[in-house]
Amino acid sequence: MDVIRLRKTKIVILGAGYGGLMTTVRLQKYLGVNEAEITLINKNSYHYESTWLHEASAGTLHHDRVRYPINNVIDNRKVNFIQDTVVEIKREEKLVVLENNEITYDYLVVGLGFESETFGIKGLKEHAFSIANINAARRIREHIEYQFANYNNDSENRDERLTIVVGGAGFTGIEFVGELANRIPELCREYDIDEHKPRIICVEAAPTVLPGFDPELVEYAVGHLERKGVEFKIGTAIKECTTEGIIVAKGDEVEEIKSETVVWAAGVRGNSIVENSGFESMRGRVKVEADLRAPGHDDVFIVGDCSLMINEEINRPYPPTAQIAMQQGETCAKNLAVLVREQGELEQFKPDIKGTVCSLGDDDAIGVVFGKKITGSKASFMKKMVDNRALFLVGGPSLVMKKGKFNIF
Ligand code: FAD
Ligand code: NAD
Repeated sequence: MDVIRLRKTKIVILGAGYGGLMTTVRLQKYLGVNEAEITLINKNSYHYESTWLHEASAGTLHHDRVRYPINNVIDNRKVNFIQDTVVEIKREEKLVVLENNEITYDYLVVGLGFESETFGIKGLKEHAFSIANINAARRIREHIEYQFANYNNDSENRDERLTIVVGGAGFTGIEFVGELANRIPELCREYDIDEHKPRIICVEAAPTVLPGFDPELVEYAVGHLERKGVEFKIGTAIKECTTEGIIVAKGDEVEEIKSETVVWAAGVRGNSIVENSGFESMRGRVKVEADLRAPGHDDVFIVGDCSLMINEEINRPYPPTAQIAMQQGETCAKNLAVLVREQGELEQFKPDIKGTVCSLGDDDAIGVVFGKKITGSKASFMKKMVDNRALFLVGGPSLVMKKGKFNIF
């Protein structure tokens, strides 16, 4: 028996990151114009590749290469795009409060992404930078360049202008120092600075770089980066950030490192709007059901870094990654189509982890792909293919041609 529809189902998607945008482009494929009213809301008119932000931050890739207009990939006959900032989700009223408007929904998809997590460490919020979004990345690039530009113009050279401290040697910290190690020699040439003067210091609290990753690949990465001049302080935790630099501790030993540029890359959390809107969460991440809905909220799906799922094999949460966010977007769109049509079964999401590749600058990388370890130009090629694949999945070959990475040989 056909269902008589009095009005179209209203689907509202918050955030055009990997999870939200993937949900949107798949939904516009699965549903007809008359089946649902789909609205996508995002702060900016563009999507940015969060996974390329370390390059924009170091200045090795222009920020315009990292973003593209959302209107390039959505079908405006099927999706209504609103550029606005989400302020609060009122779950009981099925309403989202925006900076300039309000919108009601039948089904909501929350894909508001990540924020930097500073764990309450004194001074970090005030004095450190974080690679949190495209404008934060632009600020880091400009700030570093400003320090180099000023160095030879001070009455007395101040080495702290050329000392860059990166907090955390997780994937973000390592990818960022890899780019910096390539960018610094260029800046030295540009501003007449001795190449041996700048310092890049990466501080990691755990006993190793890239904790949990393959030890042989970690050794390769550390060797490569140290040869390029990166200094590692391992088993050393950042305790405080001041206007002068940072204070670190290794056991009982406390040290101050003077630096004008401290970049905190040692932790992320889900968007605070999620917890401020009353969802039960851990650092802004909601432990979702297998069908990606928030517990107790059959009308709210949560995808990407605002969601949390447990890997039963190791009884630990899956790491927040673009890879998972995009796969969740696919499942979320399928499940919304089932609910709109009132036909079929909801899909249970299971991440399909194809591997992890970590760049060490534009010219080198390490990775485990389909269970195989790779390094060097092969890994670097693979990393660019992963980046291009993400573009392809959202915008097809034309987006790859416009924004893809082809500097592969
Ligand atoms: P995001 O990509 O964070 O997007 C969120 C969107 O919501 C943005 O468009 C933002 O503007 C918008 N938004 C936020 N707040 C509001 C608001 N209040 N109102 C309206 N809009 C809002 N993962 C991998 O799998 N592989 C990698 O190689 C990799 N590399 C990384 C490199 C770096 C430097 C970083 C920082 C992360 C990397 N990650 C990688 C992790 C990956 O980027 C995240 O897991 C992924 O971006 C999460 O996607 P998302 O859809 O949840 O949100
Ligand atoms: P992370 O949480 O993975 O790593 C943070 C690192 O900072 C850890 O090694 C931790 O020990 C360290 N740390 C924490 N507190 C510290 C302190 N006080 N002082 C010094 N070190 C401290 O965070 P991330 O690297 O930003 O990654 C976030 C997510 O994005 C992860 O899921 C990651 O897998 C993903 N990511 C993936 C890639 C890739 O696949 N190439 C690249 C970047 C990020």
